[in-house]
Amino acid sequence: MDSPTSMSSDDSMAARVARVRQRMDAACARAGRAPESVTLLPVSKTFGPEAVREAAALGLRRFGENKTQEIRQKAGPLADLDIQWVMIGHLQTNKAKDAARHAAEVQSLDRLDLAYALQRRLQAEGRAIDVLVQVKTSPEPSKHGLDMQAVSSFLRIVAGDCPALRVQGLMTLAVQSDDTAAVRACFRALRELRDRLRDENIPDVRLDRLSMGMSGDFEIAIEEGATEVRVGSAIFGTRTYLQAPL
Ligand SMILES: *Cc1c(COP(=O)(O)O)cnc(C)c1O
Repeated sequence: MDSPTSMSSDDSMAARVARVRQRMDAACARAGRAPESVTLLPVSKTFGPEAVREAAALGLRRFGENKTQEIRQKAGPLADLDIQWVMIGHLQTNKAKDAARHAAEVQSLDRLDLAYALQRRLQAEGRAIDVLVQVKTSPEPSKHGLDMQAVSSFLRIVAGDCPALRVQGLMTLAVQSDDTAAVRACFRALRELRDRLRDENIPDVRLDRLSMGMSGDFEIAIEEGATEVRVGSAIFGTRTYLQAPL
């Protein structure tokens, strides 16, 4: 996929963040949306504490991670910073305790056993966290997320049984494809689902937030209503899983 970073000689993190914000602002302008209506969630997975520290120095305060173990490893050396960790990856039920302890928010809530495990652990910690419900909008078999038809009843159960989980909205990953129409259809499906669910007025469920769009497709997501884009490689660089990240 084309990276706008390759068009510029300044490859500092500050320049990369500035270019991401320019792309976000341009997408907002095209969609007739206020630039403040979309926030940037930098995704620091596989990058070490020094990269997060550099990003924090640029004013970024929330960081997306997909493994509780990585959050644990980074949280220690960064304990002096006022930052928050957001779980965006598949969360195993036996990691609910770590998530309840270290994550300020979980965007990958996709099943009831995880909701109950988080509720139990959060209750033990005396905390409540914001959650987004991950929805499957693409036909790819590998994608986690609830089926669209299951979300309404899921929200009712979580709102009723899990007071430590404050539902704020929905999250999705689009199909991985060069076909931008197919990608757009995923984002549009999530927004339309959100609109239908809003009309149901489920008590104690907020549906203000739509987390969708990554480095390669966040402009499309913004055009389709994203309130938050999760951007990793366009800020931190290419992930080389072969390198020891920490
Ligand atoms: C890694 C990841 C991202 C960021 O991906 P990039 O393409 O590097 O921007 C966003 N969302 C989720 C769920 C991820 O796992």
